[in-house]
Amino acid sequence: MPGFELFGEEERKEVNDVLSTGILMRYGFEGPRKGIWKSRELEEAICSQFGCKYAQLTSSGTSALTTALCALGIGSGDEVIMPSFTFVASFEGVLSVGAIPVLVDIDETLTMNPEAVRQAISSRTKAVMPVHMCGSMADLDSLLEICKENKLILMEDACQSIGASYKGRYLGTIGHAGAFSFDFVKTITCAEGGAILTNDHDIYSKSDGFSDHGHDHKGVDRGADLHPFIGYNFRISELHAAVGLAQIRKLDKFLSIQKKNHRHLKKLLAQVPEISFRSIPDPEGDSCTFLSWFLPTEAITRAVVSEMKEQNILAGNFYWYDNNWHYIRKWDHLKQPSTLNLLHEDQRTALQKLQQKSFANSDKIMSRCISTAINLSWNEEQIEEKGKKMLTAIRKVLHQASTLQASI
Ligand SMILES: *Cc1c(COP(=O)(O)O)cnc(C)c1O
Repeated sequence: MPGFELFGEEERKEVNDVLSTGILMRYGFEGPRKGIWKSRELEEAICSQFGCKYAQLTSSGTSALTTALCALGIGSGDEVIMPSFTFVASFEGVLSVGAIPVLVDIDETLTMNPEAVRQAISSRTKAVMPVHMCGSMADLDSLLEICKENKLILMEDACQSIGASYKGRYLGTIGHAGAFSFDFVKTITCAEGGAILTNDHDIYSKSDGFSDHGHDHKGVDRGADLHPFIGYNFRISELHAAVGLAQIRKLDKFLSIQKKNHRHLKKLLAQVPEISFRSIPDPEGDSCTFLSWFLPTEAITRAVVSEMKEQNILAGNFYWYDNNWHYIRKWDHLKQPSTLNLLHEDQRTALQKLQQKSFANSDKIMSRCISTAINLSWNEEQIEEKGKKMLTAIRKVLHQASTLQASI
């Protein structure tokens, strides 16, 4: 799955370029940096790789979300519709700008259900934020239509799906803005980092200023910059950007390995008629970081997870339903809500309501879902062996379940 598996000479070379001048900061220091601008180069590489007009690097995917939401003018009291299955960073971003995350059910795409989005729209809704989970995409045509009809912003959280596409366009470049994460376990990494992608110059230039204390970046003298608005420091460093630059050059290679390994493992699991797979709006565009599959019932899924644990083959398989980071069921700190400082009354009330809200439609899907991370380092024999062991565990449980059924 992640780029850290194939870290090597290329990354070291880029980092050493930066170390050779000691200019670790992305702005200023024109003379001493001797023409080395890794962050700029990475932003240009992002634009050419993904076919968008502008890219702004930030210190993390989370700060990319915050920055993009601010640049899109989303703030106090605005509602942002987002899915019940994502990483905590998605709602952190929304809360950080003073907005209210409105969580809706997912469907078998493992991303937001467009019908649930329609039902969640209120007079305060400002944006729809699909999260392209586990390497694959939301039903973007339906969401674009909903946004158009209701004059809403479409903000893509594409942090987990770098290099995936929908009908020929890369995820993250289809909405008004998109966010990538380059944290350590993402498709390409620079240890910590993120990016905002957009085709809109206004959103880009606001993101550029906001992520650096509101600097207008108009001249070469940083000290003389004006501050047309208040920002924060969400800058990336040159060291991080250097790693990212080496990684983005390897992205196509990562994707082709992932796709090959994914295809192989899927073919093995597909031998079991009781297994079904995640539905993918554009299968061609899947980045294949994960293979997500369903079993017929929660009981069978839990038994398979236990059996895989017993057989010591659970590593790399994720049962999100019980996971603290990714699914609403275990986000007690959000539902409380538990915060260090006082939230706005409207935010607090909205979050408390989540305690009562039913996510039965998401539960039905998530309780039967297992995602298997696809590694870059596997060889064919290892995939065969992994698949065989998984099949043995799955078949054992299915056999037990069917004999139990027959004996009732
Ligand atoms: C990783 C991730 C983020 C945030 O990225 P960081 O770089 O870790 O801050 C946001 N959204 C999703 C869906 C993610 O998986």
